[in-house]
This record gives sequence, structure tokens and C-alpha cells, in this order.
Amino acid sequence: MSDSVSQRPTRALISLDNLAFNFHSSKRFIGEGPEVMGVVKANAYGHGAVACARRLEAEGIDWLAVAIPEEAIELRDAGVGSRLLCLGGFWSGQEAQMIERHITPVIFKIEMAELLNRSAREKNVQVAVHVKVDSGMGRVGILPSAVSDFAQRLKSMSHLKLEGIMTHFAVADDLSQTEFTENQIAVFNESVERFRSAGHSPKYTDLANSPGAVAHPSSRSNLVRLGGILYGLGGDVLPKEAPAPELKPVMRLETRIADIKEFPAGSSLGYGRTFITERPSRIATIPIGYHDGLPRVLSNIGQVLIKGTRVPIAGRVSMDWTILDVTDLPDCSINDVVTIIGRDGAEAILAEDLAIQTDTISYEITCGVGQRVPRIYDQG
Ligand SMILES: *Cc1c(COP(=O)(O)O)cnc(C)c1O
Repeated sequence: MSDSVSQRPTRALISLDNLAFNFHSSKRFIGEGPEVMGVVKANAYGHGAVACARRLEAEGIDWLAVAIPEEAIELRDAGVGSRLLCLGGFWSGQEAQMIERHITPVIFKIEMAELLNRSAREKNVQVAVHVKVDSGMGRVGILPSAVSDFAQRLKSMSHLKLEGIMTHFAVADDLSQTEFTENQIAVFNESVERFRSAGHSPKYTDLANSPGAVAHPSSRSNLVRLGGILYGLGGDVLPKEAPAPELKPVMRLETRIADIKEFPAGSSLGYGRTFITERPSRIATIPIGYHDGLPRVLSNIGQVLIKGTRVPIAGRVSMDWTILDVTDLPDCSINDVVTIIGRDGAEAILAEDLAIQTDTISYEITCGVGQRVPRIYDQG
């Protein structure tokens, strides 16, 4: 990497090696039983869907999953050939594309099944579907009371084959509410029995997200759907009390100092003049703002790392720029690397740390890294 900068130096460095490490580490922890589905929705939680999908595929992952058909099509266009589950189903008009691109939909309404069955009949093919049961999330999914009726009606659709039944946990990360998770598992198992009684024989029954797969062994069944832990984001979505696989952060977010200026005491900095210098100050400006994923609520409270030292954000984070008070770091200069997320010497800032400061979860931090921030991969 050359030091001469010919473009805005704000970049997300993505370690696909760490992604692969997390996959194998998680797989070892979970055991050989269940197949593993890598969830690469939302641009792989901000890490870059195509690159992450390709690497996971090369590492031998069994399935990939996205949220919407458009994300699935992006992967197919990039040559990703794995089994691909579309967790959010599809909208009316997209069913033909689902079939043509071999994208397996999650179905949670009978109307979706009818649309798909009609399209499959026209193409004279049989199409695999996975059905989602709402065992306690209260979001999408067939309610347990409607499962028997749904299962019978689905059985009459000769061009559909029920390949999987799934559900999603609401609080698998919170062991003080394990009773609720156990109840979701029981409700799900009863629903699976109802599908079987109606003549279905699903190959997959899957419940577990990352915290389920790690902390609730009884939820592993024969397929687990892993998102967060593949990206090394365990710190805030896995229960602290439970053993967990070793994980490494996959994303590093960095930029470089664009400018440094001296201001006398009493100068105001940034929008709203929320920071007034109390002493003659050395002020650095970095080319990263809230559009790039540095949350605006970190104004005047956030920190970044320069030369292994924590440096405070001064004033408001704006859309494209952020101001730092580097008065206590006299030896820093223009073009020095500034770490927003990652390690620098003995110090490190994790996505989980930013999440605590901004009252969210690490997923929202990495998902929030803006589209104009290039993702630089260590391989591929
Ligand atoms: C996003 C998602 C997952 C992955 O959850 P993680 O906590 O990131 O492992 C699994 N299943 C469904 C249905 C999802 O929407």
C-alpha cells in the first residue's frame, strides 16, 4: 500500500481470512451435525455481499441467505452458485425470477405459495420452498394456529416441494429469558409435526441464528443460520455467560488526517458551535462523516485512534467531515492513519464499543458504513 493518496482515504478493510476463520471456528464449536447457512443480507452486514459470499462458498459453506430477491440476483449475477435462501420471500411479480435464478424463497403466506405454484406450473418445474413459522417473534411467519390449514393447502400445490421449515428467535441472546426461547423451540417442533401429519417431509428444520446456535444447543437441529458471528460480531449479540467460539473482527474502518490547524482559546468548531476551545488547540479534520457510518450521536463524545492513542471528536460529526482535538498528540501530522473501528497499537475500538456508545447493536454500526466507502479485501 503506497502512502501517496489518490483518492479519499476513508476505507473499510475487510479481512476475508478472518471471515473464513470465524466460519470454521463457529462450525467447530457447533459440531459436525448441522449444515451451515451464511447470512449475507444487507451487503453482508456492510462487509460486501459478493466478496463474502464467494469466500464462504470457497470455504465450503452449505447455504447462503439474503433478505430480498434483489440481493439474491446480485449474487447470482456475480457467479455465486450455492443454494441461496431468500429470507424475506418475494413480492408479487418476482416469482418467475426466483425460479429462473434458482433462488429458494421463504414462504409465509398462502398467496405467495399460490403465485409460485402457478409460475412453476407454467415452467413445468418443481420448486423447493421453505416455510416460516411464527413461534414467538410476532413478525412474519405462519401462526401455529394456522399451520394445519396452511400445510394442507400447500400439499395440494403439486409444483411446490416443502424442503424446509424454519422459525426465528426473539431473545436467544438473553439467557435470563431462556424459557421464552425453549417455548419457541417447543411451538416450532409441534408445527413441524403438523406439517409431517399433512404429508410433508421437509429435509431441513432450522431455528438457530448466531446466539441460538452458540448458546442453545437444542436449537441447532440440522441447519443453522449464521450472520453476526461470521463477521466477528459476537461481543453484543452472544450471551456473555455462555461459552463461545473464538471470533476475529472482519471489518476495519479507517481514514487519514486531511488537514491540521491551530486555533486560539475561545474558538468555536463545527455546526452549532458545540465545541469551544479552552486552550490554544491543534485541530485535525478527517474525511469521514455520518454518511460514511460515523454516527452523528458521537459528536463531542466519540474517540478515534491515531498512533495508538485515543483522540476525542470535537464538535458535531457532519455528513462528510469530522473534527478531532489533537492538542495532546503533538507529533501527529497530515496523512496519518486514523482508526475508527479496529486496532492501533495497544488500543482497539470495536464495532461493539461504538454500539454501546450509540445505544444500538454492532450490526447497525457495520451495516451503517456508507456506500461511498470502498471495501478493500485482503484476498480475491
Ligand atoms: C438475519 C437473520 C439471521 C442471522 O442472524 P444473526 O443473529 O446475525 O446470526 C438468521 N435468520 C433470519 C431469519 C434472519 O433474518
